[in-house]
Amino acid sequence: MDTKREREVIDKAPKQLFIGGEWRDASGGRTLGIEDPSSGETLCKVADGTPEDATAALDAAVEVQGSWGQVAPRERGEILRRAFEILVDRSDELALLMTLEMGKTIAESKAEVTYAAEFFRWFSEEAVRIDGRFATSPNGQGRLLTMKQPVGPCLLITPWNFPLAMGTRKIGPAVAAGCTMVMKPAQQTPLSMLELARVLAEAGLPDGVFNVIMSSSSSSVMGPLIADERARKLSFTGSTEVGRKLMEQAAPNLLRVSMELGGNAPFLVFDDADIESAVQGAMVAKMRNIGESCVAANRFHVHESVADEFTARLGDAMGALKVGRGTDEGVDIGPLIDDVQRQKVAELVDDATGKGAKAVVGGSAVEGAGYFFEPTVLGSVPASADLMTTEIFGPVAPVAAFSDEGEAVRLANNSEFGLVAYVYTRNIDRALRVTEALDVGMVGLNQGMVSNPAAPFGGVKQSGFGREGGYEGIEEYLDTKYVAIAT
Ligand code: NAP
Repeated sequence: MDTKREREVIDKAPKQLFIGGEWRDASGGRTLGIEDPSSGETLCKVADGTPEDATAALDAAVEVQGSWGQVAPRERGEILRRAFEILVDRSDELALLMTLEMGKTIAESKAEVTYAAEFFRWFSEEAVRIDGRFATSPNGQGRLLTMKQPVGPCLLITPWNFPLAMGTRKIGPAVAAGCTMVMKPAQQTPLSMLELARVLAEAGLPDGVFNVIMSSSSSSVMGPLIADERARKLSFTGSTEVGRKLMEQAAPNLLRVSMELGGNAPFLVFDDADIESAVQGAMVAKMRNIGESCVAANRFHVHESVADEFTARLGDAMGALKVGRGTDEGVDIGPLIDDVQRQKVAELVDDATGKGAKAVVGGSAVEGAGYFFEPTVLGSVPASADLMTTEIFGPVAPVAAFSDEGEAVRLANNSEFGLVAYVYTRNIDRALRVTEALDVGMVGLNQGMVSNPAAPFGGVKQSGFGREGGYEGIEEYLDTKYVAIAT
């Protein structure tokens, strides 16, 4: 740990609201503390925005929407490309900042900076591929022309678990499409987003296109904006519970909405799977981001003939992980975000063991400062255990056995969520049958990671709708206008 370097990075990070290209204190001057989850200590204080600040941010976005929408697509793309390059150049510093506010290891933070930057590269290339169509009317009397235009000012709300990438997945396509934005990052991790605002300004994004507000009361700052008819879109990443509330709020204003919500990913291992590869995939699907990921494998359904072997091998791999502060050498797993999250994970584990699950490894919170929890594998988990139906958001892998393919698919689909599923099998027929039968937006087939800026990320059922990344991602920020032409 290099405390001097940490202090420098924290001191250098912006801490004010970013509105109309200016850094400002909150009106009223209040601040809110940012905590280091590895110690519980306050890292620094940032401006605590008010509803007036939020309105000022929307005012700024509305004011420049017209001119920004007219900027040439190539120029919009070049801004993203420059921002991509700055992010890559500064990845060490950004990763340290992210680790300090969020907890994951420096290696994981670096991976997130790369992932986040790649959305800018991808959408820098998509900005110049926005097109429409021209057709002869079926009766031959006239022509049809369609054109794609920016939706308009967008409200963006992001969670704490991927402080940078959940932002760039929205900002990249919004910039490429010509939309202006008001961004509200989670109050626990605003520092990475504030650095990103600085990067975008350096890359040449005009003042007012991207505005950032933070607040200790998200609902009071975002409520008025969601009701403001000048806003045209809401893109939210976070819990299903909050997503539902925001949809209700957005309904009177008929805002276009994208909802990237919670998950409860099943991880299926069939008897014909390569078990070693399944264990490696399980480690990624479960442990990336300390298990605090919407695409984290939440429950492992393993064929009864290989369940013991899989559980034992997963236990060995999880037991070998070193838990500690994300900045320390050799650490694999950082702390959970806060004590509330750690309590929730502990209660889910206690509930499962109380109902008959066996802890193969781990099972408890780590004593001392910070919000650490042991990497945990639970075997013979009954279907009645709450963690089979609740998003765990922690380093806990529950394993349950199934007896045939039909049962595996039924168990996998037995969830209100439908974000992602993982399937391990070497039988091509089964792979196609099972992936088609799963009620999810994404499938990892013999692979423990699906996130990819070139692919459409998103869910079905209570995991929401809309897609981020891929060719599909920019559509969320474009409206189609049709022109009927007399000939
Ligand atoms: P959360 O509690 O729903 O918060 C998400 C964001 O919404 C934060 O910025 C939060 O601000 C804000 N917020 C909360 N209540 C609000 C309200 N009434 N009005 C306006 N904004 C409000 O979720 P979280 O705990 O941060 O994140 C974890 C969840 O996100 C998990 O369920 C995870 O699965 C989901 N997630 C989904 C995806 C995906 O792509 N599908 C990706 C990542 C995470 P404050 O925190 O500052 O109050």
